[in-house]
Amino acid sequence: MATIIRGKEVAEQVLSQVKADVAALLARGVTPCLAVILVGDDPASRIYVGKKKEKCAELGMRSLEFTLPAETQEEELLALIAKLNADESVHGILCQLPLPKHLDEQTIVRAVAPKKDVDGFTCRISADARRDLMPCTPAGVMEMLAYANVSIAGKHCVVVGRSNIVGKPMAALLLQADGTVTICHSKTRDLANITRQADILVAAVGKPHFITADMVKEGAVVIDVGVNRGADRKVIGDVDFEAVEKKASMITPVPGGVGLMTIAMLMKNTVRAAAQQNP
Ligand code: NDP
Repeated sequence: MATIIRGKEVAEQVLSQVKADVAALLARGVTPCLAVILVGDDPASRIYVGKKKEKCAELGMRSLEFTLPAETQEEELLALIAKLNADESVHGILCQLPLPKHLDEQTIVRAVAPKKDVDGFTCRISADARRDLMPCTPAGVMEMLAYANVSIAGKHCVVVGRSNIVGKPMAALLLQADGTVTICHSKTRDLANITRQADILVAAVGKPHFITADMVKEGAVVIDVGVNRGADRKVIGDVDFEAVEKKASMITPVPGGVGLMTIAMLMKNTVRAAAQQNP
């Protein structure tokens, strides 16, 4: 049976460090501040924004919310981002995705000043990674691996999924940690043959129970990023947890896994941004 890497424990560890970092900034007269922009009234987005604001308050940080109507035009949104970019009391800016269809997400995301891009979407994962604001979900996975003492150097890491917000930055972070990385996607041939070679397998596909036990090597570390709704509306991952747990050496559950890390990493990025902007 695999050891279960629980997001709650890792997130608590990250957040207790964030709390200490907030206290150190407050002592210097700097209150870390996150500005959240919500365009439209998507109910799920509203819940996510609410949770982010709550977490900021819990940690002694400021948060600002800008709720704009769904029909907001690009220039108006870009003008707000420019204003927040120039505001020295705002350290982190995030635009809750998805945006209404008429707005180009790439244009909007790239408008956020890289030093304030706490979602990490403009991150280059430079040689000096300490200065980068890493994309939250893949950075959360890296924290989980570190917490579980999983060494990455020299390991074959297979990432299934190549999106800009999860798969690609995930692969880049594993590569930076000296893993030997393979990225798979919907055009990959003989996928199971590749996933079976993984020492560390990361599933970021968005298909319920897509990774089955026959796709996993005995003793592999399996990280499930997927968040899907089952027939009964329950949240389920990309990995067939029950079957894969018997084969893996370590595994993350869904819910209770990677999902809990994302908001913790957002808070960590915001405090890091505030510290970097107030050296
Ligand atoms: P996307 O839909 O943007 O990307 C999915 C990726 O999976 C694509 O690269 C796609 O390939 C690949 N894929 C689809 N079908 C197959 C297949 N049959 N075989 C191999 N690869 C396939 O999703 P995201 O990256 O945004 O998210 C992935 C999952 O992670 C989702 O369930 C999402 O809800 C979840 N998520 C969870 C977060 C968290 O906090 N836990 C945060 C963000 C996302 P191709 O590029 O060829 O189309």
